[in-house]
Amino acid sequence: MSWTTRIDQALAERRLASTFRQRLPNAGGGSRWLTQDQRRYLNFSANDYLGLSQHPEVIAAWQRGAALYGVGSGGSGHVTGYSLVHQQFEQQLAQWQGYPRALLFISGFAANQAVLAALLQAEDRILADKLSHASLLEAAVHSPAQLRRFQHNQPAALQRLLEKPLAGETLTVTEGVFSMDGDAAPLAELHALTRQHGSWLLVDDAHGVGVMGAQGRGSCWQQQVRPELLVLTFGKAFGCSGAAILCDDATADYLLQFARHLIYSTAMPAAQVCALQAALTCIQQADDLRDKLAANISRFRAGASQLAFALTASSTAIQPLIIGDNQSALALAQRLRDRGLWVTAIRPPTVPAGTARLRLTITAAHQPEDIDILLESLNGCSHGISQ
Ligand SMILES: *Cc1c(COP(=O)(O)O)cnc(C)c1O
Repeated sequence: MSWTTRIDQALAERRLASTFRQRLPNAGGGSRWLTQDQRRYLNFSANDYLGLSQHPEVIAAWQRGAALYGVGSGGSGHVTGYSLVHQQFEQQLAQWQGYPRALLFISGFAANQAVLAALLQAEDRILADKLSHASLLEAAVHSPAQLRRFQHNQPAALQRLLEKPLAGETLTVTEGVFSMDGDAAPLAELHALTRQHGSWLLVDDAHGVGVMGAQGRGSCWQQQVRPELLVLTFGKAFGCSGAAILCDDATADYLLQFARHLIYSTAMPAAQVCALQAALTCIQQADDLRDKLAANISRFRAGASQLAFALTASSTAIQPLIIGDNQSALALAQRLRDRGLWVTAIRPPTVPAGTARLRLTITAAHQPEDIDILLESLNGCSHGISQ
């Protein structure tokens, strides 16, 4: 088979299964509104839960940072890319989260790849919640360690795996808030089990940090759990991009030796770090935004419970409507788009087969009337959608 045949076949399969992915360029769309083809849509697809991507102080901090430091970091952190601003922000993050150290990464994807690749060896095993994010499962699949997935949010299933003897080390992996379902992991139970069996726990709190817990410290803080490894990402509630791994001193030093995504990749620009510092300050003071978000979520759930769609158990900003087959999910997303709402259908392989869904995200930037428009539109679009 030639390269072109292989590629054409793969594309044909995707098209046939209604799983062909396309990007649609927009003219701005990180927050409440998304503009595309001269039309403005109410945006229910972004992860900018607090609306910080548009926050004047965050924007001004990035601009001031660019004026001071330029727009690029000039190299890997091991060469010239690590500035005093990076160091200061790492210390701020560590202090905020109650860890000895924080290490900045260019993205959550890179952080997850890096930490799994650096830590795990052939005799080890990874026990991952079945619904863990692609960045974790990808890294786990490519790791020489054994990968076992446990039933979503089922401590008993994890326990059975932990009880199997092993020569090497065990790393258990889960998320604070699951990205496609919006439900939270029972972190205290999971951590009690991992500690009892000598496993480390890694919690990826991409969707919890900023929105959960006092000062927005996240899911772990809220559930009073301090996993050995905590991954925070800045593309969601921070409204920006980048990530950090929180850990102890020795692990941080170890990652600085062996995490190739840090060593062989250009550090994030100092100006971006300035924006992240401003976003952190906003997050620490953002009880009003978190209250507004919670009110919007309640408003949505109260209204949606009256509609023909089944809600999930999520109480977070991620409110999926599980539709089932790919075509129905796509059709519903299109009908909503026709009504001026930007909603994305998420299909396999991102989610399990037969669970194509609308992944609605509610944010603090939405006004109550936006939620009402969403509910009215869902009501008007529900005909002919079998669940
Ligand atoms: C978004 C996300 C990531 C990836 O983070 P990026 O910074 O966007 O690369 C990792 N884990 C989870 C759970 C996510 O939702």
